[in-house]
Amino acid sequence: MFCKYCGAYVDSDAIFCSKCGKPVSDGFSATPKGFTLSIFRESQTFLLNPPIDILIDGEKRLSISNGGSVELDLPTGAHTIEFSQSMRRRSVLIDLFRDMQIIVKWNRITGGIEASVE
Ligand SMILES: [Zn+2]
Repeated sequence: MFCKYCGAYVDSDAIFCSKCGKPVSDGFSATPKGFTLSIFRESQTFLLNPPIDILIDGEKRLSISNGGSVELDLPTGAHTIEFSQSMRRRSVLIDLFRDMQIIVKWNRITGGIEASVE
């Protein structure tokens, strides 16, 4: 089965998702529905380079560290993907009708979070 929150594969007898901790009974499907959103964070060298939190449709799901990547199986349709670190935020609206990817990085000059949909 696949967790509907984070898309992780979970055993059919599991009670909680081992990745995001959501209860299995909350809604798991036998097959992944929708498409895969891949998020890549560009590797950058800064003195401080904390993980960036990823919120999907307003709910914090996970965070991504420097140079890291994550994959999420999401239902088809519109989603708000928000990247957040301290006071810095960047929201991206996507309409998921195919596998998509988002590249995240810090803007070296403004210090803001940049996110581009590919
Ligand atoms: Zn999960």
